[in-house]
Amino acid sequence: MNTYIKTGVTQVPDERGYYGEFGGRFVPETIMPALDELTAAYEAAMADPTFQERLMYLHRTYTGRPTPVSYAQRLSEHLGGAQIYLKREDLAHTGAHKINNALGQALLAQRMGKQRIIAETGAGQHGVASATASSLLGLDCHVYMGSVDMARQQPNVFRMKLLGAEVIPVESGTKTLKDAISEAMRDWVTNVRDSFYLLGSALGPHPYPMMVRDFQSVIGIEAREQIQELTGRLPDVVMACVGGGSNSIGIFHAFRDDASVDLIGIEAGGHGVLSGEHAARFNDPQLGRPGVLHGTRSYVLQNADGQIMNTHSVSAGLDYASVGPEHAYLRQTERAYYTLATDDEALEGVKTLARMEGIIPALESAHAVAEAVKRAPTLPKDSIILVNLSGRGDKDLNTIMKELNLG
Ligand SMILES: *Cc1c(COP(=O)(O)O)cnc(C)c1O
Repeated sequence: MNTYIKTGVTQVPDERGYYGEFGGRFVPETIMPALDELTAAYEAAMADPTFQERLMYLHRTYTGRPTPVSYAQRLSEHLGGAQIYLKREDLAHTGAHKINNALGQALLAQRMGKQRIIAETGAGQHGVASATASSLLGLDCHVYMGSVDMARQQPNVFRMKLLGAEVIPVESGTKTLKDAISEAMRDWVTNVRDSFYLLGSALGPHPYPMMVRDFQSVIGIEAREQIQELTGRLPDVVMACVGGGSNSIGIFHAFRDDASVDLIGIEAGGHGVLSGEHAARFNDPQLGRPGVLHGTRSYVLQNADGQIMNTHSVSAGLDYASVGPEHAYLRQTERAYYTLATDDEALEGVKTLARMEGIIPALESAHAVAEAVKRAPTLPKDSIILVNLSGRGDKDLNTIMKELNLG
């Protein structure tokens, strides 16, 4: 399978990193040269077959790529409509898609001669992926994590430490992901010469949203070929959950020029839009508006004064007040459609997939499963839904047990 990753083959971003009116670089002047240096190094790396071959080799022999596409036969029959297929990112090393990006960026850091990796993490998944890639390549990894998140996500703190990373507790603000990102950016400003900021989703200042998209596009490149091999044609719908937006943009990217394929992103509906306790940036017309957060212009949950709102989701990976700028663009241009699943619907999705297919999905991925469960019965039996199963549920077992009263 040819999984050379292409960059710069779409209309977006433009040279300044804009996706229409979204994206860009909203950062202190001191980081601008570093972002320019990073952009140039990235483009050179992607144009270099040696770099691409090395990434492909590691994906094949270490990440476990290509991950399969599985036909969810019992689930499809149970729902009585569209045929559902799952792209199995849950089977990638470390249990989710995040390693695709972490490994790509770590290789780039190594190529740039930067030995010190800075990362931030909320639930700890990106921290674990960064620590893993750093360990593999012999880089020093420093992960910023809110102290509240550290208490909530202890197993991932242990994993990072075991992998040799330093985990730095963040005590400012709400002591969660938003504050960890701010601290990581501050570290980068100070240590920009010898440090590489390994950003975890399709967010942040240009070139990060593009770079993360490209490294994750391996998901869609594989899936597009695999689904045609299995079914003889393209799917009618591709679905993925949207936190920062990396697994979704990763699978959408290969299908964006296929006009017959609908692209659907699913946000965290938490306790419902009306409750105000959610992370539905596109689906709350009151609080979700264009704004700037962490270096990029996109949709941001904010009050009338522009104060960033606190978010809620049962899944830590979707619990963020903004979303990647390319999604804001895909939505505005009506190439993709964004809906939500509530906590309860996601939990039900976990149970359904576990019982029907023997797969326990991550709570994040279960949001996409929930949408497939809603939509499949409304579609004809010969239609095809491809769901990106971004990760496995082992990390969420405690939450799932508690929420479903299985303990
Ligand atoms: C982090 C995470 C997500 C959300 O991040 P995106 O950048 O939106 O993909 C989704 N699923 C899993 C399993 C995750 O770990």
